[in-house]
Amino acid sequence: MTTPKKPKQNRQTISYLSQRFEEVGLNPNKRHGQNFLIDLNLIQLLARSAGVGPNDVVLEIGTGMGSLTGMLAEDAAVVITVEIDEYLHQMASEELEDFDNILMLKQDALKNKNRMHENVTNAVKQQLAEDESRVFKIAANLPYNVATPIISNFLRSEVVPATMTVTIQKELADRLVATPGSKDYGALSVWVQSLCDVSIVRIMSPKVFWPRPKVDSAIIHIVHRPERRAAFGDLDFFYAFVRAMFFHRRKFMRSVAVSAFKGQLTKPQVDEVLEQLSIGADARTEQLTMDELQTLCEAFRQQVIKVTGEEKPVMANQGG
Ligand code: SAM
Repeated sequence: MTTPKKPKQNRQTISYLSQRFEEVGLNPNKRHGQNFLIDLNLIQLLARSAGVGPNDVVLEIGTGMGSLTGMLAEDAAVVITVEIDEYLHQMASEELEDFDNILMLKQDALKNKNRMHENVTNAVKQQLAEDESRVFKIAANLPYNVATPIISNFLRSEVVPATMTVTIQKELADRLVATPGSKDYGALSVWVQSLCDVSIVRIMSPKVFWPRPKVDSAIIHIVHRPERRAAFGDLDFFYAFVRAMFFHRRKFMRSVAVSAFKGQLTKPQVDEVLEQLSIGADARTEQLTMDELQTLCEAFRQQVIKVTGEEKPVMANQGG
């Protein structure tokens, strides 16, 4: 008979964490966003909000000491957890040694800011291939410095998660749920909401972390909508288009579009697209809804195809 698996989540307290760090003569590393969630109720809320079930392959980025990892592994088919810090990886391995459904990777989860590391995506693909009923989900208290690329890249990856339930900076959560015309509305809001439903589960004050970050945080729940993805002519083009169009958010959209398509479309060819959609010369990108941006993007893409003859055009100037 196998011993029942029990995570050691009661150990995620300030005294336990600081003692473990002292033992190895280290301090939490700010550069790696090492702010540990020390409120057990909130760790449970995050795990519960992820809605993990027995068919799920769950990816956690930032194992830390493994307290959320253990909780997720109680319900998931398998948990793949990635940690960049060698010492934390080692400490978490000890904490999680009783589990046989946790796969631990010691490395940077990102290949670069535009791509997840292939070891991570390959591990997910391999686990999904074990059984066709398996579903891919992400649940994590994300390192804040890489939260944006992780969320954004996974929506362009070969394996797209059905849901992402993650802790991030509140300021980033505000951008993810922002609506047209608001100050937080930008390329990231459009990119994520065009493909997903996004909701804020809980706002959290700095005091539920050790060490305390300077800002508030939030747990967010992102649900991927494959039917929205299917409506895009070319998702990579849309990604580049949205980034380029929000790069100078204060400028009139016409002049942003002229410089974004410089070398591909002439000014009259840009104007032709805007006139076709009855978009005035004084319109700004931040006023357009997601649907309007999608329609505009497709109209520009068709114009580039018509003018250049390329079948799969790439945007000339992709913003920052
Ligand atoms: N899961 C733990 C918890 O909930 O308390 C730790 C979360 S802490 C906010 C983020 C963790 O991600 C840290 O352990 C940090 O070392 C790790 N990390 C930071 N950057 C990373 C990266 N690029 N790839 C993988 N892990 C990373």
